[in-house]
Amino acid sequence: MNADLHCHSVVSDGTLQPEALAARAKANGVELWALTDHDEVGGQQRARAAAREIGLPYLTGTEISVTFAGVTVHIVGLGFDADDEALRQGLAATRGGRDERAREMAAELAKVGILGAYEGALRYVGNPDLISRTHFARHLVETGVCTDTSDVFRRFLVEGKPGFVPHRWATLRNAVQWIVGAGGLAIIAHPARYKFTPNEEYALFTEFKAHGGRGVEVVTGSHTSAEAVRYAGAAREFDLLASRGSDFHSPDESRIDLGGLPPLPVGLTPVWEALEARIQRAT
Ligand code: AMP
Ligand code: MN
Ligand code: MN
Ligand code: MN
Repeated sequence: MNADLHCHSVVSDGTLQPEALAARAKANGVELWALTDHDEVGGQQRARAAAREIGLPYLTGTEISVTFAGVTVHIVGLGFDADDEALRQGLAATRGGRDERAREMAAELAKVGILGAYEGALRYVGNPDLISRTHFARHLVETGVCTDTSDVFRRFLVEGKPGFVPHRWATLRNAVQWIVGAGGLAIIAHPARYKFTPNEEYALFTEFKAHGGRGVEVVTGSHTSAEAVRYAGAAREFDLLASRGSDFHSPDESRIDLGGLPPLPVGLTPVWEALEARIQRAT
């Protein structure tokens, strides 16, 4: 099945509206879709309604920012009740420090002569609660400081580079419990991105499972084909369900379009088998 269970709208750091994403997913042959905005469920109603209108099966989604072993890890939640109060409060607390962090990032960039970055980034922000590094990246590209967003994340905004501000996000335990408590399924997003040592990665997978986490992204826009093979192995080793999602943000920036990923490697159980009862279809 062409499931695409990871992407972003203007409600976080994507450039398209939820309705445009639904239409794009449908046009690209997606058969099961989820909008997974960072630390937000504010786009869920619109995404679900748009999907229903065009006959595209839908799962609720979000991508929670977590600090684990001093590193930012992303946990995708799928198939939860988007009105769950504990989940909503947890997400609100997680995105709470973003504006202050953004002002500090701008102050750090000013030290290397890049002035007005906060105001510049704000021009790209669709949700005032959710200013992110992506919005700064768009501003740095637009003003010619960098050639494209990968250039930004090589030279700025990452540890050891100008504009980086360390930040404490949710705990792994809380993020998984908010999702599970709302009736959803928790998934480790793009594990190859974290550059953990084998011991740290083992700790992440083990603790994630202990808290009730059930899945791992194997095929994602952030993984090479070798990394997909590697995390197919991890899914088997840790007995986790396998997920698949493009992590699409923008037609101009994303390497992989909605619905454009290769299939899951054989021999894995897809997350959507465990989510059958949570899929919303037009009836
Ligand atoms: P934040 O949540 O503010 O720390 O921003 C994280 C976002 O920055 C991610 O969700 C990506 O959209 C983007 N990002 C991080 N690293 C990269 C990268 N190397 N290339 C492109 N985008 C990136
Ligand atoms: Mn993002
Ligand atoms: Mn992510
Ligand atoms: Mn993402």
